[in-house]
Amino acid sequence: MSLFFSSKAHSFWICILFSLLFQIQTVWAQLNVVATTEDVASLVRVVGGEWVNVETLSRGYQDTHFVQAKPSLMVTVHQADLLIYQGMELEVGWLPLLIQGARNPKVFLGQPGNLDLSLSIDPIEVPQGTLDRSLGDVHAFGNPHYNLAPSNIKPMLFMIADHLSELDPTHEAQFKSNRNTFMKKFDARLAGWKQRMQPFKGKKVVTFHRTWSYFLRDFGMQYIGTLEPVPGIQPSPSHLIQLSKLMKAENVRLILQANYYRDKFANLLAAKTGAHVLTLPPGVGGVPEASDTIGLFDTLVNQITKALEDNE
Ligand SMILES: [Zn+2]
Repeated sequence: MSLFFSSKAHSFWICILFSLLFQIQTVWAQLNVVATTEDVASLVRVVGGEWVNVETLSRGYQDTHFVQAKPSLMVTVHQADLLIYQGMELEVGWLPLLIQGARNPKVFLGQPGNLDLSLSIDPIEVPQGTLDRSLGDVHAFGNPHYNLAPSNIKPMLFMIADHLSELDPTHEAQFKSNRNTFMKKFDARLAGWKQRMQPFKGKKVVTFHRTWSYFLRDFGMQYIGTLEPVPGIQPSPSHLIQLSKLMKAENVRLILQANYYRDKFANLLAAKTGAHVLTLPPGVGGVPEASDTIGLFDTLVNQITKALEDNE
């Protein structure tokens, strides 16, 4: 007893109590952010740091056009203060079902807890004229794979930092400082990636889906066709014959495809044309080494430059 009430022991217990209170306050102060993709989650972690708790609804090795709207994901959305998604209908097949099932008014469309990150970027491949969804086009509002353009990282980060600041104004300075620190680091790495990709400017490639359009644009490469006749539709034999003729005429040596697609069609086309099939992660978490934004671009540049050097 005398030890418990001694002044040293007293101070010790007070310190423990304050430390516990501080930790509880930290946990309480965290914003619960739910991101649809690991790419978005990675950027939210960079900006939000210790002031956010981030959950992700899909994994980088999944095709984000087609995710199963599982009840466990509804529970995750139910607990969100903020839901951030890539938009442009990338998640249209499953996110509305999750929002409906989650019954969380904070993340309803038009609420501060609902953020469409595609509003931060300039979309490409926006279809002109009347939409014909009977064709199965899953890019009806343009190409939603803008997470694969280094030039889009800055606007995405700025929108995330602004939005976190609106929801948690007490930490605005930290969010903006985290954003700026990351952008400096990212820009330095981008200069290196550009240098390594420089010799391949103008190179022509074919892709399975239009996954890489923003990436190829940023690095000055050209894509001349896709195995899918329309985004989301399997290749037909006649389409593959036409594409192989085009590849031979244009001397295309490389076929890019995300690692969740079956190899069958790309291998068939490679056998017909002598081109090489390169399977790549389509986003953060697509392979272990692409565990964050910088890791993703590092992996893509490493693999693409190596494949182009080996297949000159
Ligand atoms: Zn797509």
